[in-house]
Amino acid sequence: MEATEKRGFFGEFGGSQVPADLQKVLDILEEQFYHFKDDEEFNKELNYYFTEYVGRKSPLYFAENLTAKCGGAKIYLKREDLNHTGSHKINNVLGQILLAKRMGAKRVIAETGAGQHGVATATVCAMFGMDCTIYMGAEDTKRQALNVFRMELLGAKVVAVEKGQGRLKEAVDEAFADLVENYDHTFYLLGSAVGPHPFPSMVKHFQAVISKESKEQHLAKEGKLPTAVIACVGGGSNAIGSFADYIEDKEVRLIGVEPDKAASITEGRPGDLHGFRCIVLQDEEGNPLPTYSIAAGLDYPGVGPEHSYLHTIGRAEYVTVSNEEVLEAFQTLSKVEGIIPALESSHAVAHALRLAPTLSTDDSIIVNISGRGDKDVEQVFNMLK
Ligand SMILES: *Cc1c(COP(=O)(O)O)cnc(C)c1O
Repeated sequence: MEATEKRGFFGEFGGSQVPADLQKVLDILEEQFYHFKDDEEFNKELNYYFTEYVGRKSPLYFAENLTAKCGGAKIYLKREDLNHTGSHKINNVLGQILLAKRMGAKRVIAETGAGQHGVATATVCAMFGMDCTIYMGAEDTKRQALNVFRMELLGAKVVAVEKGQGRLKEAVDEAFADLVENYDHTFYLLGSAVGPHPFPSMVKHFQAVISKESKEQHLAKEGKLPTAVIACVGGGSNAIGSFADYIEDKEVRLIGVEPDKAASITEGRPGDLHGFRCIVLQDEEGNPLPTYSIAAGLDYPGVGPEHSYLHTIGRAEYVTVSNEEVLEAFQTLSKVEGIIPALESSHAVAHALRLAPTLSTDDSIIVNISGRGDKDVEQVFNMLK
C-alpha cells in the first residue's frame, strides 16, 4: 500500500485533510479514478466526445502578426478558446462526468465562483441527462446573474449560498456537505486542479490533453520542442494541463502567470486551504487574504499543490502581470490577430509580449489561450470608456 499512501502528495503539498466521513467518499473516488483512467473503453468514449462534442484537437496557431510585432521568438497560440463552451474547462468536466456515469451517479453537484465552471458542468449534465445542482455564493449570483440564467437554461438548479461572505469558499463548503450527505448517488465535479486528493491529480489527467496535443503539433511544425510554455494560473488547471507533457523535458521553460493582486505563488507561503496543503496568500495569522483580479477566474488565494511543488523545486517559473498589461494584451491580440482572448488568458499573452522580444528568432513559445473573451467584452468596455 506504500505507493497508494504517497499518491496525492507533491513534496509537502497536496494530501487530504478532511473529516473522516468525507475521506471515505474521497477514497472511493480515488479507487474508481485510478481504475478507469487507463481503461480502454473509458478512453475511447472520452476521445469520442473530445472530438465530436468539444471539437478537439484545438489548433496550435502560429501568430505570425504578433511574432512580427514583438520581434524575437515565434509565438504559437494553443486555441482552447475554440472548444465548445469557449474554454479549457470542458476537458475536465467531460472526463469527470464520464467517471460519474461509470460510478453509477444520477446526480452531479459543483461549485462555481464567477459561473464559468458551473456553466461547463451544466452543459455536460444537459448532454448526459444528469440531474445537476450548482452551488454559488449569494454575492456571486448577484454579480453574475447572466451566468445563473445560462445554467438554468441548461437545466441546472443553482443554489445561492447565503453563509459567510457568500463567495466561492462558502459554495465549496456547501458542495462538500452535500456530497457527504448524498454520496451514494451524487458525484462532486470539482473545477480546478485544487482541493483534497484525488481532485488535483484527476483534473490534471483530463487537462493534460492540452500539452499532449501541443507537443505533437509543435514537433510537426518546428521539428523540436518549444523554448517555453506560458499559461495563466488561477487554481491552476489550464496551466498544469499545458505543462503536463513537458515536465520531464527539462529544457522547456514552464511559466505560470498570476495577477499581481492575486499572486498566490509569488507572494504567498505554505499553508492549508480547503482540505489540502499549497502555497496560500495569507496574513500573519494564516487567514487567506482577499484577492482582486480583473479576471474572475483567477481570483483565488490558493493554487494547486503541484504548482506549489514545481515552484519550490524550481521546475516552473511563476511571474505576475498588472491589470494595465492585461488590458493592453487583450487589445493587442484582438487587433493584431483577430482573436479576443479571455481576460484570464490575457495574463499569459501579456507575459509573452514581454518575453518574446528577449529571445531569438530560433526560439518558439506556446501561449495557452485558455478561453475566449466574449464574456469579458462588456467589462473591458466599462473599464476603458
Ligand atoms: C476558470 C478559468 C481560468 C482559471 O482556472 P485554472 O484552473 O487556473 O485554469 C483561466 N482561464 C479561463 C478562460 C477560465 O475560464
